[in-house]
Amino acid sequence: MAAKQRVIVAGAGPVGLLTALSLASQDVPVTVLESEPGLSYDLRAGTYHPPSLEIMAPFGVTDEMHQTAIKVPRWQMRDRKQGLIVEWDLSEISDLTPYPYRLHFEQHKLTPLLYKRLLTYPHAEVRFSHAVKNVNQTADKVSVTASVPGGDDEQLEADWLVGADGGRSAVRRCIDADLEGFTWPERFVVIGTSIDLSKYGYAYNAYVADPDEWCALFKMPGDGPPGFWRVLFPVLPDESDDVALSAENVERRMQGFLKIDTPYPVISKIIYRVHQRVARRFRSGRVVLAGDAAHLNNPLGAFGLNGGIQDCANLTDKLGKICRGEGEASLLDLYERQRRTVNLEFVQEYSIRNFKRLAAKTPEERQANIDDLRRIGESAESRRQFMLVSTMIASMRRANAIQ
Ligand SMILES: Cc1cc2nc3c(=O)[nH]c(=O)nc-3n(C[C@H](O)[C@H](O)[C@H](O)COP(=O)(O)OP(=O)(O)OC[C@H]3O[C@@H](n4cnc5c(N)ncnc54)[C@H](O)[C@@H]3O)c2cc1C
Repeated sequence: MAAKQRVIVAGAGPVGLLTALSLASQDVPVTVLESEPGLSYDLRAGTYHPPSLEIMAPFGVTDEMHQTAIKVPRWQMRDRKQGLIVEWDLSEISDLTPYPYRLHFEQHKLTPLLYKRLLTYPHAEVRFSHAVKNVNQTADKVSVTASVPGGDDEQLEADWLVGADGGRSAVRRCIDADLEGFTWPERFVVIGTSIDLSKYGYAYNAYVADPDEWCALFKMPGDGPPGFWRVLFPVLPDESDDVALSAENVERRMQGFLKIDTPYPVISKIIYRVHQRVARRFRSGRVVLAGDAAHLNNPLGAFGLNGGIQDCANLTDKLGKICRGEGEASLLDLYERQRRTVNLEFVQEYSIRNFKRLAAKTPEERQANIDDLRRIGESAESRRQFMLVSTMIASMRRANAIQ
């Protein structure tokens, strides 16, 4: 039976579209408002952990991703000077998930898959060029003001509003839910190259510690085989974006990481600021936040988008029940308790730890990290515990255990 209540979702990023798709599949009428005239094609996240693949599987999205994505069952922790420290093999946890690997697939390829499926539901719509700018609510309804091209604002009304409008969320501002935390002084530059780094012993995903210039590597599918590699480096505050993105500095960073005889062919480069922040609250009455609108973290460990996908699964299960009259609105407080807590305890904690481990400065600190990782790598049980955390299976379990 169709749900009686309607939902507006702000933002047609991966979190907004997956939220809308999940609600639409439960017969909930849903309208997505997106400020841009179309889906974003920026190069951003691209690593999916097993729980995300499980969450998207019922919609057929995971199968379609597999047609062109790269499976990464093994990934490495390395040190620039000492080389390989540990290689994790996710097949060791194949009893816990049907997807015992990281899947590499660009974020801008995921959103069209979600969008295409969303449009198959007659009670779902996406309105592009609709930027949410104001939100008002009463005991019964939430009303959203969106600016549209041409000047006149549009008013829309629904029972619930999900703010999935990214790191600069207007919805978050409207419910006065400040982002608490800090911004790293370093920015991150991500350089794409067609040089095949696996020839030099690198797994398709590797983290390389160094006190001066650590880096992280990801093999991505790109336009199809052979794909390309993304290499992420820190950029110190005294280096401007333009200088960091100059051909000379891109080449210097790449050659500093791995010296080769030819210049590196560079196929993409972006630079961005990195935050560790969590919204003071995820719910205010009829409005809830999810994804980057609710929390931001550095990408080391790929917890950002994957955490947002876990938000979607948790939220839409509860919101679907509420819209069908099968659950109380207080379920949304449980959503906030579960997802905000794991973001603080897990996503923030481990992404900061990952950053600090790669960037450790003193020889003693670096050696202690290396010894610790080698010790974890030595026993099957400690490897398993490490992989439960790094796959975010532990974070799903922890959230679900919170009452
Ligand atoms: C530049 C950049 C690079 C990144 N690189 C990496 C990376 O290398 N690795 C990694 O793991 N993660 C990376 N991330 C993080 C990752 O991309 C995010 O975690 C992910 O995009 C979160 O998805 P989302 O749907 O919550 O938000 P978003 O993807 O930001 O989507 C939000 C959507 O809301 C729309 N919107 C914004 N304001 C409004 C409004 N007022 N009204 C309506 N719509 C609105 C936006 O146009 C956008 O389409 C990066 C993020 C950025 C910004």
